[in-house]
Amino acid sequence: MDESALLANANERAQSYIAAIGKRRVFPDSGALTDLASFEEPFPEHGFAGADVLGLLDEKGSPATVASNDPRYFGFVVGACLPAAAAAERLMLAWDQCASSFDNSPIAAKLEQIAAGWVLEALDLPRTSAVGFGTSATASTLVCIAAARRAILARQGWDFDGDGLTGAPEVRIVISETGHITVKKALRILGFGMKRILVAPTDIHGRVDPDRLPALDDRTILCLQAGEVNTGEFDPFAELIPKAKAAGAWVHVDGAFGLWARASSKAALTESIDGADSWTTDGHKWLNTPYDGAMAICRDAGALAAAMNSDAVYSSAASDAQKNLNLEFSRRARGIPIWAALRSLGRAGVAEMVDRHCALATRIADGLRAAGYEVLNRVLLNQVLVRATTDAVTVAIRQAAQASGKVWFGPTVWQGRPAFRISVSSWRTEEIHADQLIQQLAALRQDLES
Ligand SMILES: *Cc1c(COP(=O)(O)O)cnc(C)c1O
Repeated sequence: MDESALLANANERAQSYIAAIGKRRVFPDSGALTDLASFEEPFPEHGFAGADVLGLLDEKGSPATVASNDPRYFGFVVGACLPAAAAAERLMLAWDQCASSFDNSPIAAKLEQIAAGWVLEALDLPRTSAVGFGTSATASTLVCIAAARRAILARQGWDFDGDGLTGAPEVRIVISETGHITVKKALRILGFGMKRILVAPTDIHGRVDPDRLPALDDRTILCLQAGEVNTGEFDPFAELIPKAKAAGAWVHVDGAFGLWARASSKAALTESIDGADSWTTDGHKWLNTPYDGAMAICRDAGALAAAMNSDAVYSSAASDAQKNLNLEFSRRARGIPIWAALRSLGRAGVAEMVDRHCALATRIADGLRAAGYEVLNRVLLNQVLVRATTDAVTVAIRQAAQASGKVWFGPTVWQGRPAFRISVSSWRTEEIHADQLIQQLAALRQDLES
């Protein structure tokens, strides 16, 4: 098979995968999992034909996928993939651009500049901020905190690039008690010891309590959150950020999925968030773009560009070149599927999608309450935290729902007891899917609680 026949074949296979959306199992059955053994072959001495490689991948691989690109997937706030974003990604694979700078790829540099501007508009953040399109919220948080620390040390007269951390003034971290594990991971990698970071206590909703906020100063980085993973709650930015800024602290906001509320009728939840210094968010979650698409956004564009600079004698570039805003030197043009998603949705489309998901979460919460479940959170966003009468039944219902292959959502622990967490974040999810979920869980409760 020549290259064009192979690509056509890949396209056909991709189309039949998409055609089965809504019909396939949401989590693979045991047969598909057993069949994964087909991949366990010796590293071939001589390569197989492309058609053979692709055939094995589809025949044994496709059935073992989790159908996160499906309207019945309610796990992990991961979203699905918008058609325009997926299509843009397909074309980009033919281009094979190394999207480091204008010299490597004029089209990537142009579109990532446009996408950056649109993201700042959609999220209503300071328009002169730098936007680095990185692999994940984890990596983007790492990049933002690195820039924050370098800037704080520079204000203290310390040359971080030259002298590193040995003997440097200590930069303090204050992080929400419910801060995401990946924010802690980023901090740990950067050398902020977990025993040294200060925890800001939270209220019953999981939001930082302004009255119990540890003292802040001009050597502190305060890590807040827009969208807690269990409850979807937001820290009270309007109280916290002015206080932090008055103390001279740097405020970073992890808004991996929740920042997109700002592009919807739920924007009030994010009031004053634009007063922070840096923000991270994902494209691959609520914006429904392909994976490895996230954003590090920094008010002081120069601080991010200086911290991430990778100019070399053979490769110098503008300060807004993506290689100077990210960890990667060679990189995929992650901003392009984000551009495609934003262009295909428009401002109204982003708002409609986010609002629909929030409305569906409320519908699911109401339906489950009526079916005898306890809903543990206020459901002000797209997250529903649910519990049955006893812990054992909660776990059994979640396992039975997962095993049915008709739906998938994950477990969590809330205030020390098991619960399950239903997230609505797929552009494909409509009322009918919410209602099917409610019916299925109502039936499971009848079976398992009697
Ligand atoms: C998913 C998530 C992260 C991590 O994002 P990745 O893109 O998976 O690295 C961080 N914070 C919150 C609140 C999240 O939901």
